[in-house]
Amino acid sequence: MDQKDIYTKLKYKTKKVHDEITPDQRREMMDLADEYREFLDNGKTERECVKIAIEMAEKNGFVPFSETDSLKAGDRVYFTNRKKNIILAIIGEEDIENGINIVGAHIDAPRLDLKQNPLYQSKDMALLKTHYYGGIKKYQWTTVPLAIHGVCYTKDGEQVEITIGENENDPVFCITDLLPHLAKDQMAKKLGEAIEGEALNVLVGGMGVNDSDIDDSVKCNILNILNISYGITEESFLSAELEIVPSGKSRNVGIDSAFVGGYGQDDRVCAFTALKSILDVKVPNKTAMCLLVDKEEIGSTGNTGMLSKFFEMATLELVEKVSGKNDMVTFNKVIRNSACMSSDVSAAVDPNYESAFEPQNSSFAGRGLALMKYTGSRGKSGASDASSEFVREIATILNDNEVIWQTCELGKIDQGGGGTIAMYVANMNMDVIDCGVPVLSMHSPFEVTHKGDIYMAYKAYKAFYKDR
Ligand code: MN
Ligand code: MN
Repeated sequence: MDQKDIYTKLKYKTKKVHDEITPDQRREMMDLADEYREFLDNGKTERECVKIAIEMAEKNGFVPFSETDSLKAGDRVYFTNRKKNIILAIIGEEDIENGINIVGAHIDAPRLDLKQNPLYQSKDMALLKTHYYGGIKKYQWTTVPLAIHGVCYTKDGEQVEITIGENENDPVFCITDLLPHLAKDQMAKKLGEAIEGEALNVLVGGMGVNDSDIDDSVKCNILNILNISYGITEESFLSAELEIVPSGKSRNVGIDSAFVGGYGQDDRVCAFTALKSILDVKVPNKTAMCLLVDKEEIGSTGNTGMLSKFFEMATLELVEKVSGKNDMVTFNKVIRNSACMSSDVSAAVDPNYESAFEPQNSSFAGRGLALMKYTGSRGKSGASDASSEFVREIATILNDNEVIWQTCELGKIDQGGGGTIAMYVANMNMDVIDCGVPVLSMHSPFEVTHKGDIYMAYKAYKAFYKDR
């Protein structure tokens, strides 16, 4: 054997999904992407994602946990929390004390929330003040069609759901930007400072009521329309949760339709694949769980984020209905033996911004599920760092199931970084690894993912539920 052959044997080589899959798998991959796009189009807020998840779960034999008495192998249940989190579980054949296999993802996404008192009139136009949620590049949210999604209450205490800007005949909204002809001062500013948070006001009206005695007659007319359509008054805004998101449906991207383009793919691409894979599980050896949480984009805080006790409370109740035991010793044993694929997107190397990445340790679109042994920023600050043993265990499952995967961190060390829910799951004393689908233009109104990676994420989670 000459040196070249030896080197080929020794060298690690990343694989590309398009080189590895059969024509049948290619079709399966494209079909999965179509289904995913439907999920994206119908789930633009965490509440909408939970709604769809419940629908999908119930169609696949899952029942609300509260409607069950005791649980045995093969039983399928779900828990929800404040309409913004959902946990799906399938009871395994093995003793639950051997642990649970969990795939966790988040269903919130960067957006513009309406402030609590948002509506005002200026220069004969009605606008809504917003407060951005999560890490956005503010300039990306100007001059694109926007929609309003969310809930608010009428004076009688009735909750109304509002969605405006998605149907063909709906009006849309937008945030205006300064014309280049007059933007000398703006263009000289740093990109991060050119658009201010207080300038992200959404245009919602321009036609006043016919009454010159009313100063802000455009605002008056907007309130009239809202009152007629939804029965709400201006006070309804004070307790509302209304989110401004990009309007319209996701699209295939590329002449070969290799990519999915659309809003909210961080992290709904992982939420969808996690959900879809657990629906396809029959009776697993170990109990399988899909965990979809809110508030990751702002630090996993609050009663619907990963830092809330929801996961622990639900799991404790689950263990009790399966084993009859509700003591902490049993619960701790379950957690210690559990494992979690913390499923969140990674940054795909962007040919337009290559210099932000260290190519040997970055993820590429089309090279499969990205495993991140650790996240964090600078000196691994805030990282959850999976053990060598656990990375090896997961890699073996992926290899045995012909899942194409790659390894990465989030770009060059000194460029920034980020965290996921992994560290909070790890705090409970469970093995956790970050993994997910590489994304281009992350956190923008139009994020892009590769269909090969979506397909591999789905295959990976299925393999994890089946084999670990
Ligand atoms: Mn994310
Ligand atoms: Mn994010």
